[in-house]
Amino acid sequence: MAPGFIDLHSHSDLCFTLPLRDQVRLLEGRVRQGITTELLGNCGIGCVPLSQTTRSDVERVCGFITPDGVDWSWGSFASYLERLEAQGVLVNVASLVAHGPLRLMAMGARAGRPGADEQRALDRLARQAVEEGAHGVSFGLIYPPGQFADTGELVAVAKAAAAGSGFVAFHQRGSSRDTLLQAVGELIEVGRRARAGVHHSHVETVGRRAWSGAPEVVASHEAAARDGIEITADVIPYTAVCTTMLALYPPWSLDGGVASFLERLRDPSVRARMKQEMAESSPVWPPWEGEGRWTMNIARECGWDHIRLAHVDGVRNKVYEQQTIAAIGRSRSQDPFEALSDLLLEESGVATQLIFGISGDEATDEPLVPLLQSPGLAFVSDAWEIGKGFPHPGACGAFPRVLGHYVRERKVLGLEEAVRRMTSLPADRLGLADRGRVRAGCRADLVLFDPRTVADRSTFADPRRFAAGIDEVLVNGRRLVAGREFRPQAAGRVLRRGA
Ligand SMILES: [Zn+2]
Repeated sequence: MAPGFIDLHSHSDLCFTLPLRDQVRLLEGRVRQGITTELLGNCGIGCVPLSQTTRSDVERVCGFITPDGVDWSWGSFASYLERLEAQGVLVNVASLVAHGPLRLMAMGARAGRPGADEQRALDRLARQAVEEGAHGVSFGLIYPPGQFADTGELVAVAKAAAAGSGFVAFHQRGSSRDTLLQAVGELIEVGRRARAGVHHSHVETVGRRAWSGAPEVVASHEAAARDGIEITADVIPYTAVCTTMLALYPPWSLDGGVASFLERLRDPSVRARMKQEMAESSPVWPPWEGEGRWTMNIARECGWDHIRLAHVDGVRNKVYEQQTIAAIGRSRSQDPFEALSDLLLEESGVATQLIFGISGDEATDEPLVPLLQSPGLAFVSDAWEIGKGFPHPGACGAFPRVLGHYVRERKVLGLEEAVRRMTSLPADRLGLADRGRVRAGCRADLVLFDPRTVADRSTFADPRRFAAGIDEVLVNGRRLVAGREFRPQAAGRVLRRGA
């Protein structure tokens, strides 16, 4: 018997706005891997706060994590949590507030620095969300609009979060060889200048040239901790990640939001410039000086044959799901960039990708191992199921994969240590004094698993296979899995910061 697993990196934000019957349909695979608490609002990408003017931008950026049937009928962070509570939640949910929707509300979708009034509005909105129960603010520095924020903006927002006793979580600005360590340095600098707790989300090294950098990242964390920075981090147990296709394009092409991006794709000369930069650009630091600069050129770093289409809504393009962009180009008799760009126009900018070659690849995961062994890193899924397309297999298998594949089969780390990094470590990050441990006075969030048989069964080809060896899952004392049988009910609570 172990404490229930706490997933610090969920993107189920919109799944939980649906009625319980839909949560049951979408989240069974997560419950069946032993997850009893999810932290939402990650990577600067979130659905709250929402206003009439920001709604369409937020909807498009969130398209890749949005299941069918979402009604977008909330406004403030408080109203979002109230909505979840009124509806009932399958497991416990806590949430960060994402920087993206805050920035859209304060200054729209444009690139560049906020003016003084805009920065004040941004800080006030961040502080308000933390006071309404957010555990902190997340930044997504490779996505629009977070990629337009410079370090000064991040420091101001982090101060606002810290004033409400929240922490700041980072999808770092670049994880390829070019800017990996500068980007880690930036999040540490924000923690130092803002006196805020820092969480480094899904530590990863993107592209073969960066793979050897994992120990350097861990060393940076350790040095920061010695300097008195409160820093934690997490890692996913795979060498592939899932995200929006928009992350492939140069930041300047997303200035003004997704609608402006699509306009640029329709303009042959602007499109040609995007193509050339994606083929040739070398990321630089800092990225906000000068035009057209960015911090991570994923397509060039990983290659079109390592990027797969995971999901699109359009019926005509469904046939390309599971194919690499290189293969889609071949079937459409187009160059990969042109094929992808046409596809994005057809899909109004909403498409999901799986990127292979993150901290290793199919042939070797050795570069990932130092991260899996690093005692300060929590395990997370960073995978979601919206009932469409092909999810990342972590949506059904992340935690059992650690326990089965990496603990039992590979002996990369010990069982107790692995469980600690799924339970008490993330509970401490969230300040959940009564969860993440099995002891008197704690809530009965529990997982009963068999260490001899626990295993992930989901694969990239067949991602919806439930995990094996998880016999019982209890949330707040209620059995969601009993004798391997799923018993859906609204067992979860909404966990507000400091409540
Ligand atoms: Zn992320």
